[in-house]
Amino acid sequence: MKTLWDETVHRRKRRRKRNVSILISQKPYSITGTGNDCGIIGHTLNAWDLSGCTTCMDCKVKVFCPGCTPKHPQDETAIPVLCERHEHERTVKHAAI
Ligand SMILES: [Zn+2]
Ligand SMILES: [Zn+2]
Repeated sequence: MKTLWDETVHRRKRRRKRNVSILISQKPYSITGTGNDCGIIGHTLNAWDLSGCTTCMDCKVKVFCPGCTPKHPQDETAIPVLCERHEHERTVKHAAI
């Protein structure tokens, strides 16, 4: 009899209602729906600081302008992106040729 009783108790416990609340994932809004907007449409840069560095608003990657600074002063892994000024200069030079 003992075994049967135990089984009943165990079953009761197992059948306990699980608190299945749907977890709303707070993923950042993605335009392409892949979560990799930056790789597809490019980074969304913040304002450039005085040393020629900025960050991406979406993926928070560090960005530096190779025209302003030879390399990012803090981060070796920062990616090179020309700032508006240097991008413009490059375009003008190309147009002149
Ligand atoms: Zn990015
Ligand atoms: Zn620059």
